[in-house]
Amino acid sequence: MHAMVCERAGRPLVLQTLPRPEPGPGQVQVLVRACGVCRTDLHLVDGELPAAKMPVIPGHEIVGVIAAHGPGIDEPAIGARVGVPWLGYTCGHCGYCASGRENLCADARFTGYQQDGGYAEYAIADARYVFPLPDGYDDLHAAPLLCAGLIGYRAYRMAGDARTLGLYGFGAAAHLVAQIALAQGRTVYAFTRPGDRDAQAFAMNVGVHWAGGSDETSPAALDAALIFAPVGPLIPAALAATVRGGTVICAGIHMSDIPAMPYRLLWGERSLRSVANLTRRDGVEFLALAAAIPLTVHVEPYPLSGANEALARLRAGAVAGAAVLTPGL
Ligand SMILES: [Zn+2]
Ligand SMILES: [Zn+2]
Repeated sequence: MHAMVCERAGRPLVLQTLPRPEPGPGQVQVLVRACGVCRTDLHLVDGELPAAKMPVIPGHEIVGVIAAHGPGIDEPAIGARVGVPWLGYTCGHCGYCASGRENLCADARFTGYQQDGGYAEYAIADARYVFPLPDGYDDLHAAPLLCAGLIGYRAYRMAGDARTLGLYGFGAAAHLVAQIALAQGRTVYAFTRPGDRDAQAFAMNVGVHWAGGSDETSPAALDAALIFAPVGPLIPAALAATVRGGTVICAGIHMSDIPAMPYRLLWGERSLRSVANLTRRDGVEFLALAAAIPLTVHVEPYPLSGANEALARLRAGAVAGAAVLTPGL
């Protein structure tokens, strides 16, 4: 099979021809039709994430069909369409796993990070961690649901019943979260890189109430802010824009350092928290919501060999919505 491989952090991915991976006990072999390109992949390739398997095939927003079963399983059926997310394995019995917080399991393994992912024609997944996907989304448009949508949703849920929501960084996740928030009658403000008129126009096109640079004053105080951009200085900016008792939620896996800030930004019972990974329950909940709303997913398709170009455009903030590789389309 063909795969785009991260051989070493800091280097472009390399197109390789590799043996087709065979499923072990409890695993399925997935014929990859589409795989989203997530900012986490960029952090991986840039060497900003510790403990990555190297070399590794990135990609954790995989849409494909079951091509083969490993020993001991017969579900999902051969030919069934599935999504393979970031969460690839958990221990199942630690305190976190036993309390509905498998996203925090210390023995968790993640797709396209500690096990090979979907920048390839085939991928292997543990059958217990794949999701059926809503019929209303074709393969290309279903891919971004699997991380941008899913982890975006987990972050959004932590905003509770916030009526006025600020989204910092308007890419793949924010453009989906914005649609959920708008469908639920909330007011949504989008904060982009200063002066990024294209991203602001994209946000307005999605339907947000206001879009501007992160250096601009919010039109109204925020009940909650979700930070999707990996930029530490956005934390004091978002806290300053948030009401007393409000929450600032950091949704990314990596961020530049948070600058020193006066305590008064946090005071007034504001909360600052992060979101890590996903649980399978998040996936089931979010995909049902995505089927019901439904969401308009904006994608930029790339052939498998275009992965480096897709990552470069993501790094430059030039992707409107989500970049998706299409090994099998
Ligand atoms: Zn565990
Ligand atoms: Zn991701």
